[in-house]
Amino acid sequence: PALHRQRHQFVIDFVKRNKPRKVVDLGCAECTLLGKLRWFQREIDLLVGVDIDGTKVKKKMHALAPMATDYLQPSYEQLCIELYQGSVTQRDARLRGFDLVTSIELIEHLTLDDVECFSEVVFGYMNPVDVIISTPNSEFNPFLPGLSGFRHSDHKFEWTRAEFKTWAQTVCLKFGYEVEFTGVGAAPPGQQESVGFCSQIGVFHRLEGNMLRCDNAEDVFAYTLLYSINY
Ligand code: SAM
Repeated sequence: PALHRQRHQFVIDFVKRNKPRKVVDLGCAECTLLGKLRWFQREIDLLVGVDIDGTKVKKKMHALAPMATDYLQPSYEQLCIELYQGSVTQRDARLRGFDLVTSIELIEHLTLDDVECFSEVVFGYMNPVDVIISTPNSEFNPFLPGLSGFRHSDHKFEWTRAEFKTWAQTVCLKFGYEVEFTGVGAAPPGQQESVGFCSQIGVFHRLEGNMLRCDNAEDVFAYTLLYSINY
């Protein structure tokens, strides 16, 4: 299967295993992953998407609406879907208290200064139970035919496994998380160890006792609500 499908399947498998109730996809683009996740409506009760590009989000968001058949099989569970236009470098109080935050092929579109803001916002402020982050593994680039430079002209960087690890471990120390590394898109036979996966993935888990206290957190609403629907 295509690599973007494999990345989304990775998230779906995680959701099946861990059953998060509140999930937000950062950099949701045309809501493809959200469209797949909504089928878990018996387990998920709040599904949120955020992207800086509101036009992209609006393109297919109406496809997230329930179909007639959803009403024919009434379930006691409720699913709420919300889509926002906003930047992951900014805080928004509506994104706190989630079980899972996903960021698939997003961070490489940020400048390194903005990656710092992203870390602070996602781990320090949103402070979810789990975070899944995927980004290109630059060590794999020599295997991509016809590629010179970055995989996409909008990428600000592409990290080696060591660079991703350094960033991830710094984040863990600072905000009280642990991380495991994996990926999707296998290297040619015999070269998996030396090259790694095409897309590298960090799965972060909040350590016990590291839940931030909300008491005097001030409520900021920086994002614009584009769409909201209740099943
Ligand atoms: N996550 C999707 C997927 O897996 O197919 C789309 C990935 S796309 C390569 C990167 C997305 O991140 C784009 O839709 C872009 O608009 C969004 N993006 C870039 N910078 C952002 C920011 N600062 N805040 C929120 N979204 C951003």
